Order: sequence, then structure tokens, then C-alpha cells
Amino acid sequence: MKYFSTRGHAARSEFCDILLDGLAPDGGLYLPESVPSIHRAELDAWRHLPYADLAFEILSKFITDIPADDLRSICARTYTADVFRHARTGDDSARIAPLRWLEAGKLGLLALSNGPTLAFKDMAMQLLGHLFEYVLEKRGETINILGATSGDTGSAAEYAMRGKSRVKVFMLSPHGKMSTFQRAQMYSLADENIFNIAVTGMFDDAQDIVKAVSNDAAFKARHCIGAVNSINWARVAAQIVYYFHGYFAATSDNAQQVAFCVPTGNFGNIFAGHVARSMGLPIERLILVTNENDVLDEFFRTGVYRPRKTSETHVTSSPSMDISKASNFERFVFDLVGRDPATVAGLWKEIDAGGAFDLSRTPFSSRLAEFGFVSGKSTHSDRLATIREVDSRYGVMIDPHTADAMKVAWQHVADLPADVPLLVLETAQAAKFAETLREALGRDPEIPADLQGLEALPQRVEVMSPDVETVKGFIAARG
Ligand SMILES: *Cc1c(COP(=O)(O)O)cnc(C)c1O
Repeated sequence: MKYFSTRGHAARSEFCDILLDGLAPDGGLYLPESVPSIHRAELDAWRHLPYADLAFEILSKFITDIPADDLRSICARTYTADVFRHARTGDDSARIAPLRWLEAGKLGLLALSNGPTLAFKDMAMQLLGHLFEYVLEKRGETINILGATSGDTGSAAEYAMRGKSRVKVFMLSPHGKMSTFQRAQMYSLADENIFNIAVTGMFDDAQDIVKAVSNDAAFKARHCIGAVNSINWARVAAQIVYYFHGYFAATSDNAQQVAFCVPTGNFGNIFAGHVARSMGLPIERLILVTNENDVLDEFFRTGVYRPRKTSETHVTSSPSMDISKASNFERFVFDLVGRDPATVAGLWKEIDAGGAFDLSRTPFSSRLAEFGFVSGKSTHSDRLATIREVDSRYGVMIDPHTADAMKVAWQHVADLPADVPLLVLETAQAAKFAETLREALGRDPEIPADLQGLEALPQRVEVMSPDVETVKGFIAARG
């Protein structure tokens, strides 16, 4: 399988190259040249596979430059009950991403947050850790991963890369802006290859530094700077797997359809659902949900994509969705405009200049219907009410991001065909967001046994002013 850019750069790169590359040279995002079609016979053969084997079958369609035996072993080492050990129902722990029915056969929660950092980002990031190690070992190279996080990405990346001899991680976070638990998760890591840098500013300041360093081609080459943010195709590929897994868990045979409801920020998670559907997975509907930062909900309602400025971005109680410019969205628009790179390049010229675009007078709406997309939105008071309602109706504590999705899912359950189950993707565990849970329920979420006491561990973090040269100097001295 070869890869090319949404903006037309025909590099025809292999998977292992784009894994280390991040963005395409023309500023676009990498996509596979074609989407593999999965036929009924193959679906039938996959239905009862354990998660790691299913991951191998799906990833081997996209990764053709790693020998099958090696890829199989990477998947087997990634998706173990030992790594994804935080399932809240005992029997399910071996299934990596268990489905919990809230209303039998109608409404389910697909638990994707059983990994080391209690957020769905582990599902892909753990695989990336093994892929990076494998490819760097083969090539005799090393990499310095530079990233910015507002909470979940940073810890998922650090837990995936910790202790890997050819990888160092430099993770920028906004000083004092993350939850106590999130801070403890990152800053308590004692591994020598992990460097936490807290910049005295906002998340966007951290993000700008990462961009500035990545745009310095000479520095980037000299210090082997790499990225693991959500535009990395490998993360999308890994996420496709749980849509198939969820489908098999929720249906009785492959004639049935399913719907998914996905809390969305950077459009990475739900884009993987779109790819799964394009591959032939019988998905009746993909429901996208935003919080108060509703750029994407607006697009799906009106056809107008208008990224907001940082000053217009709300700080909310579902912080991992506080995004006003969804980086993965470009991949979806590529499909929406009929896979034409020139059109995408034209539209993103507007976006990169701080503008907007309007697809409402194009075949947009018929394509959206064809792709099965609908959208909805949720606010702080919706989140609190939903957390309460789910707790009292089903006896389950959900996190604020999952609550956003659940609020909109309820609006759709009634109008779905009777035999189409709706799965809400659970993207984090409540334990990560104790403050909001307390506000909603008046009591604390349960912390998994192995993470209790995390907040009391010694922390290691370098506090720095948001200055590009200072950060470069820090990396140069340690990378
Ligand atoms: C990252 C994240 C999201 C948003 O996922 P995208 O792929 O950016 O759309 C939602 N919920 C949680 C808990 C997250 O960490």
C-alpha cells in the first residue's frame, strides 16, 4: 500500500516512511492511495477473532512494508489484557475493548479507555510505541518526539514510549492548566527518555512552539524531530480496528447494521469510523458530537467550515474536545469533494490564511447522506445532567466527553431502525475528571487500584517561558 498527500504531493511513500514523517511535504495529510474493500467472507472470518488478531488482519491491509510475522507479533504485544487492564467489569478484561449494554441490543458503551492512561488515545498510541521501536531498530535510527498536549495525548504518548532506547519524548504542556490527575500521570514518570516541559502560557503557545520547531527544517533534520499528534496516519489506522470489533460485539451476524456516536475534537476518532465504513463495515450512521466548541457541528449542519480563533475557543469541562481547528478534518473533506487534491489545496489556502469555506452549494449534502454523517452538540449543563442520568438509570459513571456523546445518542435511539444498535464510544474513564464528576454527582469516581496514590508521587517537570529558542536549546542539550 502506497500513501500520498491530500494536497496532491505524489510521494507514493510506504507506511514506515510516513510513520516517522508526520505531515506530507506539501503541508497536506497522508492517505492510502486506495481504501481496501472487505468482503462478506472476510467479515465472517473476522467475527470471532481476539482483538490482537483482528488488529493484525486490518492493519496488514494498510501496512505492507513490514513482514506479516513481525506485524502479527507487534499486534500481539500491543493488545494484551495486561496493558489494557483497567476494564471495570472483570470478565471482560481479556477483550481489550469490552462492550457494555446499557439497553440490551439497543444502546451500548464501547469501552476504549482501559489502557494505562484511561483514555482512548492508548488504543493507537500503544501500537505506535511498538511500531516506532521496530522501525527505528531496523534502520539503526533514533528519534526525538516533540509534542504539545492539553491533557490526554501527552500521557498516552509518554506511557507508550517510556523506556524505549531509540526514542526520547519532549512533551510541552500548559503550566498549571491540566487536571491534578493528568499532571500526576505525566510528571510522575521517572524514565530517562521522558522530558516534561511546562510552558508558562496556554496550550496554543505550546502548540505554536512545536510548529515553529518543526518548521525549522535544519533543526528538525539535525535533531531527528518526529511527531505523534493525531494527524499521524498510523493513529487513524489503529483506531479503525475498534469499529470492527465494536460491530462484531454488538451484532449477531454480518447482515446487521450498527450506528456509532463519537465525541469529537480533532476528528481523528470519527474519521477512523468513516474509513471503516468505506471499507464496507455496515455502519448505518456516524453521529459526531462536539461540546461548546462547535466548529464541526456547524459544518455538518450548514456546509460552512469556519475555524475559530484561540480567543474564541471555550475552556470547557470536556477539555480534550476544546479544539477549534480539527486537523484530521482535511482527510474527510478530501473524500467529500470527490478525492480531488487541487480542490483540497484551494480550500486549505483559505483556512491557512485564517479564513473559512462553504460547501453548501456543492454536491456536499448528498455526499454527507451517502457517508451516513449526522451531528449534534452538548454543553456543560448537558454533561452534568447526562452524567447524573446515566448514573441513576444504569448505575454507570461516565466521563464528561462520553457524556457529551451520550446526550446526543439518546436523541437518535428512537429514530434508528429497531435492529440497528447504537454504540457510544467511551473515550475516557470518569477517574480522570474527578472535579466534574463531583460537581455532577456529589461524590468522587473510583480510581483504579494501581493508580491510587499517583498524585502523591514525586514529579519531574521543567518549567519554561514559552520561547522557541529556549525549547530548542533544551532539546539540543538532551536529544
Ligand atoms: C482526544 C479525545 C477526544 C477527541 O478525539 P479526536 O480524535 O480528537 O476527535 C475525545 N475524548 C477524549 C477523552 C479524548 O482524550
